[in-house]
Amino acid sequence: HDNLATADSEVMAAITGELHRQQDQIELIASENIVSKAVLEAQGSVLTNKYAEGYPGRRYYGGCEYADDVERLAIERAKKLFNCAFANVQPHSGAQANQAVFFSLLQPGDTYMGMDLACGGHLTHGSPANQSGKWFNVVPYGVTRDTNLIDMDQVNDLAQQHKPKLIIAGASNYPRHIDFKRFREIADSVGAYLFVDMAHYAGLVAGGMYPDPLPHAHVVTTTTHKTLRGPRGGLILSNDEALGKKINSSVFPGLQGGPLMHVIAGKAVAFGEALQPEFKLYAQQVVANARALAATLVERGLAIVTGGTDSHVMSVDLRPKGQNGKDTEAALEAAFITCNKNGIPFDDKPFTITSGVRLGTPAGTTRGFKEAEFIIIGNLIADVVDGMAANEGKPDLAVQEKVRASVKALAQQFPI
Ligand code: PLP
Repeated sequence: HDNLATADSEVMAAITGELHRQQDQIELIASENIVSKAVLEAQGSVLTNKYAEGYPGRRYYGGCEYADDVERLAIERAKKLFNCAFANVQPHSGAQANQAVFFSLLQPGDTYMGMDLACGGHLTHGSPANQSGKWFNVVPYGVTRDTNLIDMDQVNDLAQQHKPKLIIAGASNYPRHIDFKRFREIADSVGAYLFVDMAHYAGLVAGGMYPDPLPHAHVVTTTTHKTLRGPRGGLILSNDEALGKKINSSVFPGLQGGPLMHVIAGKAVAFGEALQPEFKLYAQQVVANARALAATLVERGLAIVTGGTDSHVMSVDLRPKGQNGKDTEAALEAAFITCNKNGIPFDDKPFTITSGVRLGTPAGTTRGFKEAEFIIIGNLIADVVDGMAANEGKPDLAVQEKVRASVKALAQQFPI
């Protein structure tokens, strides 16, 4: 019954190291956030001990009274938050939520359309490396070369030509609003399901800062840990209750065994937080901060794919400075700014190198950063990149040292 520090000093040391890393650096990975103490506490609770296969009131194990309470709270709050008729809160992750949709609506070998990974789509939307690409006939769509916006004419042409059974709208690296209404019209014109994966945007949708896909989609999935600021996990929503029944059987017993009740408790807490009026202010600030960061980077001579952002995320094109994503990610990390390299549309560098980095504001905004701080951060990023450009692509150590000191000062001003 020892606590972790006494029982296992090795694991404790790694967790403490990670806490300090999060405290000391600036987190710009667009898919990450910083959860509340309440979410952490729920996720670290005794609910991890409980098996609760089935659904509230229909379990395959005894002793599920409190597990039922927690799951019902999570379902009711999710439905209220996204104003819809059905919610399944059990998927262990976003990838598994997507798998459950495929399992409900497609047979192996069926044709569906998803956004090309190279244009900002997600691995689970039909990448050849993923089950979603191996078990189905995938017709990818992309963005136009001139605007880098989703090519809706191409989506329509491909749909008419290939008559897919399902079309996925949603992305991991697309900064602009997606026209869900137009996607539904195209889906309807060929009798396809419209499936929206709003994993990146869910918190912005909840906060009224991104178009709501639920009036248009047959089914919507999301992760709960990105802009929505909950524990790591998945969620499936719909307004079609008959489809909801199919989804429930696909998640359990179709794909999963026992639900992670401690994570579902964390989801319930996070949904409760997102229902508070302050969450709307958070979502507004996330977008305002992203716009300030993008504008600063453009002023400093970097390019932003599509010229800016309407959301929490942006793709920085490093080519104007002659740098690549891999080295820039490493140089920024050494300066205590964390992000990830990412291909830009029509990138001529391999995905292990890339010409871009993806930046996002959800975690920094949770920390309390506003536009003024993101202007500082934008200038620090540009300092690091300019330092590399003046040093044949290698980090300029003096610049790095200066940036680290500025990051430290910011981090201390906004403790987590
Ligand atoms: N869908 C989208 C659009 C995502 O960006 C991600 C995660 O990056 C996922 C699904 C997968 O979520 P998870 O990592 O929880 O499996």
